[in-house]
Amino acid sequence: MDLTFNEPELAFRDELRAWLADHDPGREPDSEDANYEWRVDFQRALARDGWAAVHWPPEYGGRGATLTQSAIFFEELGRAGAPLPANVLGLLLAGPTIMSWGTPEQKERYLTPILSAEEIWCQGFSEPDAGSDLASLKTRAVKDGDHWVVTGQKVWTSAAQYAKWCMLVARTDPEAPKHKGLTYFLMDMEQEGVTVRPLRQITGESEFNELFIDGARIPDENVLGGEGNGWKVALTTLMNERAGLAFFLQVRLRQLLDRLIAEAGQRGQLEDPVIADRLGELHLKAEILRLTAYRGLTAIEKYGQPGPEGSLTKWMWSETNQQLTQLAADLLGPAALTAGGRWSYELLRARGNSIEGGTTEVLKNIVAERVLGLPKAR
Ligand SMILES: Cc1cc2nc3c(=O)[nH]c(=O)nc-3n(C[C@H](O)[C@H](O)[C@H](O)COP(=O)(O)OP(=O)(O)OC[C@H]3O[C@@H](n4cnc5c(N)ncnc54)[C@H](O)[C@@H]3O)c2cc1C
Repeated sequence: MDLTFNEPELAFRDELRAWLADHDPGREPDSEDANYEWRVDFQRALARDGWAAVHWPPEYGGRGATLTQSAIFFEELGRAGAPLPANVLGLLLAGPTIMSWGTPEQKERYLTPILSAEEIWCQGFSEPDAGSDLASLKTRAVKDGDHWVVTGQKVWTSAAQYAKWCMLVARTDPEAPKHKGLTYFLMDMEQEGVTVRPLRQITGESEFNELFIDGARIPDENVLGGEGNGWKVALTTLMNERAGLAFFLQVRLRQLLDRLIAEAGQRGQLEDPVIADRLGELHLKAEILRLTAYRGLTAIEKYGQPGPEGSLTKWMWSETNQQLTQLAADLLGPAALTAGGRWSYELLRARGNSIEGGTTEVLKNIVAERVLGLPKAR
């Protein structure tokens, strides 16, 4: 593994740093809707100058960035205190899945409005009885002439309240084995059969929603990757989910840790060897996370596909972020728990880290089975 950047990577980083210095997104707004608009504006600014999707090929409006450059992009975004673009699910999940499986017409129709945040995307995978075991999902799609009629319920659907399109996986053949009877659809959210009901989280915000689908209609041309091929197409989406974010998240973790160390320093707490020890341990974990993320990148560059490091970094990040925010509460006391304050938000939001994008238990299974070669759990 080579941790030094080559000339083109350094040039890419410097150009991006200069752009971010000229386009300071400003302070994060407090209210949820203002925050979302702020992220839309930031994405539009990125898109205007060709930075919205550096990892996309130039013919689709990207920069054809290498994996390392893509990692640099997310690291620099985190370092500049910039937000993730509003259409993050479109940019990281829907776009690459459409590029892999879409017809020329689908690529032509859907990719450009993703870049400009004109059309926001959400991911309709999880259901009340299908999360980790996604293939057991029950939402049904039945053929009706040149359309499909969809009935079912999705849950935890992030950004559905803003979304124009949904990456929807539904069962089209109930007789087939569970992984084989699925089809992947591009569903228009703006229709009568689709109801979005926000779920309020412990933080007070509503990032995600329940999605009730009652007779929604999807034209045949919005099937992605062919009827009955939904599992394979969904795996493409899931493979893309963790790839870039690891770098953004590890930088955010580092910043949060630096902030906690500064606040503990102001309170004279760094002289306490027990506190220094706990902070030291978090520093070590943050560094291991950064290096493991780069090791994962090297594996993709060498072998052409993501290794198990993606599961490892997601697991390590969620655990470390939860430890860090808990330590903040221990060190800062009631001040860290003031409702509406930064630390109380971080502490409460971190609860979901070990669930979203794959639960820690499931990630541990992956590491046990695919890295350590232990027998399969099932
Ligand atoms: C903030 C947030 C945003 C989300 N956004 C989206 C989204 O936009 N779109 C979407 O489709 N989903 C989204 N999700 C849903 C997320 O993908 C699921 O919550 C996750 O996959 C777990 O599924 P589940 O909630 O059904 O839990 P379950 O799968 O029912 O798991 C329950 C418990 O059992 C454990 N478990 C399950 N299977 C195993 C096993 N084989 N071995 C050991 N333990 C096991 C789990 O670890 C967990 O502790 C989001 C979740 C969160 C928290």
